[in-house]
Amino acid sequence: MNSVDIKNTDSNFKDVVAAKIGLEAIKPCYTCGSCTGVCPAREVVDDFDPRRLIHMIVLGMKKEILTSDLIWFCCFCNSCYYICPQGIKFSRVAKELQKMAIDEGYVKEDFLKEMEEINSHLQDLCRRTMFKKVKQGFWGPHKMPCWQNTTKVK
Ligand code: SF4
Ligand code: SF4
Repeated sequence: MNSVDIKNTDSNFKDVVAAKIGLEAIKPCYTCGSCTGVCPAREVVDDFDPRRLIHMIVLGMKKEILTSDLIWFCCFCNSCYYICPQGIKFSRVAKELQKMAIDEGYVKEDFLKEMEEINSHLQDLCRRTMFKKVKQGFWGPHKMPCWQNTTKVK
């Protein structure tokens, strides 16, 4: 994100997104970057950055966000949710942005078909990356038995 063109921003955008997913879900972000640090999708897609996307929402960069490929790379693992000090669930934000992008006509059908094919690879990569992180010591309050077996935390 180089510069913000104020003329092309929508100051209501953060409220619209927040209303769809729960008001507390976006506004309290204080850009600590913990989500970005733990995100497996970021490790496979350089430009993907949940903190940055939330910041863009707060700035009202609606069109730039809804036309961006980046909103499609979240693999909904919720790792960022478990580590976020503000309890922000980025996977819900990403789902809502995707729905808005489709509803508002920013997404072509071809793209959705391509994403279907890419998605299973992305999910697989995310899973592998997360398990690597867990082995290296990352631990969130995950309830999945497979995660608990992979860590020393009880
Ligand atoms: S971890 Fe939470 S508070 Fe920190 S930047 Fe990410 S969304 Fe914002
Ligand atoms: S839910 Fe999405 S943004 Fe959050 S850590 Fe997983 S892939 Fe990254």
